[in-house]
Amino acid sequence: MFTAFLIKYAEIGVKGKNRYIFEEALVQQIKYAVRRCDGEFKVSRTQGRIYVEALTRFDFDEVVDNLKKVFGISGICPVVYAEDRGFEALGEELVRYIGEVYPETEKSFKVNARRARKNYPLTSMEINCKAGELLLDAYPKMKVDVHRPDILLHIEIREKIYIYSETIPGPGGMPVGTGGKAMLLLSGGIDSPVAGYMIAKRGVKIDAVYFHAPPYTSERAKQKVVDLARIVSRYTGPIYLHVINFTDIQLYIYEKCPHEELTIIMRRYMMRIAEHIAKETECLGLITGESIGQVASQTMHSLAATNEVCTMPVYRPLIGFDKMEIVAVSEKIDTYETSIQPFEDCCTIFVAKHPVTKPNLNIIRRHEQNLQEKMDELVETALKTEELIIVSQ
Ligand code: ATP
Ligand code: MG
Repeated sequence: MFTAFLIKYAEIGVKGKNRYIFEEALVQQIKYAVRRCDGEFKVSRTQGRIYVEALTRFDFDEVVDNLKKVFGISGICPVVYAEDRGFEALGEELVRYIGEVYPETEKSFKVNARRARKNYPLTSMEINCKAGELLLDAYPKMKVDVHRPDILLHIEIREKIYIYSETIPGPGGMPVGTGGKAMLLLSGGIDSPVAGYMIAKRGVKIDAVYFHAPPYTSERAKQKVVDLARIVSRYTGPIYLHVINFTDIQLYIYEKCPHEELTIIMRRYMMRIAEHIAKETECLGLITGESIGQVASQTMHSLAATNEVCTMPVYRPLIGFDKMEIVAVSEKIDTYETSIQPFEDCCTIFVAKHPVTKPNLNIIRRHEQNLQEKMDELVETALKTEELIIVSQ
C-alpha cells in the first residue's frame, strides 16, 4: 500500500546556509542507504521536506531498516500517494487507508489537512471536517479527539495527495558529512566500532586505521576488522581503511623496551602513526574506543601517556561507559557478534603479565630513546607499505 516515505529531521540548529548543507548531506546519505535495497527509488527535497519515493516494487521492511541507519533522520513516515481525482475519490482512499493500517477501529483520530497547492477547491478546514465525517460514517466505533488522538491523519495536498499517520523513529543525530572527518583507530574488539558509530552520529565522516601484525595476527583477524568496518559503513557511508603492518615496530619495541611498558609504548606509536595518516587525509581528529579503567592501558595515567604524543584532538566517546553499556550499543548496531569472534589482536599477543598501570612519562620517554636507531625507518616503511581498503556496502 505505501509507496513513499516522508523523512522528518530535527531542524533545531539548522538554519540558513547550514540548513542547506544539512539537507544536502541527508539526501546523499539517504541515497546511499536505499541504493542497497531492492527496487528503484527517487529521493527528493521539496519545500523543506525530503521524500523517498519507490518507483518499483520494494520490500517495506528492508527500506525502513536501512533508513533507520541514516543519522539526521528523526522520523520515517510511510506515505500513501493518491492522484487528485476529486474529493470523493480521496474520501474512498482515506477510508481504505484507515481500514488497512488500523484493522481494529476503536481508536480516536484527528484529521490534519495541509494545502500546499492553493488552487485545491476545499480549504484545509473543510477537508478536515469532510474527511472526519466520512471516516465516522465508515467506522462508527471511531471517534474524533482533537487534543490527544490515537491517530493523527495527515493529508497533504500537493501535485499528488499524500496520506500518512505513522512515524517510525529514526536514529537522530546529524547527517554524516556535515561535521568534517576523523580517523578511527579500529581494532577487532567491541569498543572501537561503537566509538566510530558514536562520532559518526554527530555528522562526522569516518576513515579508519588498523594495525596488523602478521604472522602474530592472522588474515582472519584482519578480515574481521574489514567486516566490522563494513557494518559500521551502513551508518557512515564508505570507509577508507588503512591497514598498517605493525609487526616490525612491535618486535623492535619488544626487543628494546621493558616488557611491562610494551603496551603503552606500542599504543603511543599507534597514535603517532594514526595522527600522521590523519593529517595527510584531512582528518580533524582521532577516535579511539578507550574507556577509563577498562584495562591497564586505559587508566588515567596510561591515557595521559598515550595522549601525549598527539597534537590532534583525540575523541574517546566511550570514556565514561561501562563495558555493559558499550555491549548494549554494539548489539544495537549489530557489530557485537562479529567483535566477539575469537581472533587474536596484536595487543593480546605482546601483552605483558604485569603491565604498568601508572606509567611515568619521563621513564617511558627515556625507554623510547632505546628505539632511536631504527624506529624512524620502521615507521616510514610501515607508512609506505600501507594497504588501503575502501569498505562500503
Ligand atoms: P577494542 O574493543 O576497541 O579493541 P580494547 O578494549 O581491546 O578496545 P585496547 O586494545 O586497549 O582496548 O585498545 C584501545 C583502543 O586502541 C581501541 O579501542 C582502538 O581504538 C585502538 N586500538 C587497539 N588496537 C588496535 C589495532 N590493532 N589497530 C587499530 N586500533 C587499535
Ligand atoms: Mg582491542
